[in-house]
Amino acid sequence: MLMHSNQATVRIKMLTEMGIGPVWLPRYAEASDEVGGVSVLVDAGPVHIEKSSFAAVVEPSIDAGGETKVNGAAWLDELPTPDASALPLSVVQSVSEMGWDDLEQAVTSCRACGLCAGRQKTVFGVGARTAAWLFVGEGPGSEENIEGVPFVGAAGQLLDNMLLSLGVRRGDRTYIANVVKCRPNDQNGNDRPPVADEIASCLPYLQRQIALIQPQVIVALGKTAAIALTGSDPDTPVTQLRNKVHIVAGIPMVATYHPAYLLRKPMEKSKAWQDLCLAQQALDGKAA
Ligand code: SF4
Repeated sequence: MLMHSNQATVRIKMLTEMGIGPVWLPRYAEASDEVGGVSVLVDAGPVHIEKSSFAAVVEPSIDAGGETKVNGAAWLDELPTPDASALPLSVVQSVSEMGWDDLEQAVTSCRACGLCAGRQKTVFGVGARTAAWLFVGEGPGSEENIEGVPFVGAAGQLLDNMLLSLGVRRGDRTYIANVVKCRPNDQNGNDRPPVADEIASCLPYLQRQIALIQPQVIVALGKTAAIALTGSDPDTPVTQLRNKVHIVAGIPMVATYHPAYLLRKPMEKSKAWQDLCLAQQALDGKAA
């Protein structure tokens, strides 16, 4: 993917907004390089995903022609099956057939897990319902719980800048959702990650959103989202989930760090940028 100079200027500006520097400039048809000991991320062309035997994770590789190939890929036809105890099977089947309006209403009135008790607003998701990009976070925080919108506040601002670095805006070819739609908080009122039962209860809603949107690529923001989407062992570190193209319901999925984590660990932003480039390549490969 060649980048025109004005696109490069915009991307540099956005990467600067993300706090990434020195800026890594894409360079066509090469895999990676080192300049003065600093990694230079380069654009290696489209990703080809080849359907073959069963595998949930696809390791990208770079061939001599500069194309990123995904070998030994397989297609997971289904997302992880939720815990049967979490939602009655009839409810799961009902959700899997819902249109947008019914789905949003179902979430608004949902009391399938204990998170309903402390919520002010459910956070359904926001964006284009035919989005090419689907970003999936963990769950609403305190501000999202009040506003009913995912990724507001400082983490939301960083996510918006990450979107801009890809040449898209919130709501423009993008959809943003969370694994759980109600805020998880601890006894002290602080945000916390959702537990397995809560994720299992809420996952059918996200599954239905994915089925309705049919995005060209999914970006899992943080470990919770990546594990929920891939069905990986909960103890899997995010470092083992990154730098790979997973296949979720037949859709390429790339895991990266949660924006809130990047605010605490700004040195990791360069890795997030690598992840976004991999996701862009996966999208380009699918679109080709
Ligand atoms: S988190 Fe999900 S499953 Fe739990 S009450 Fe909220 S909408 Fe329902």
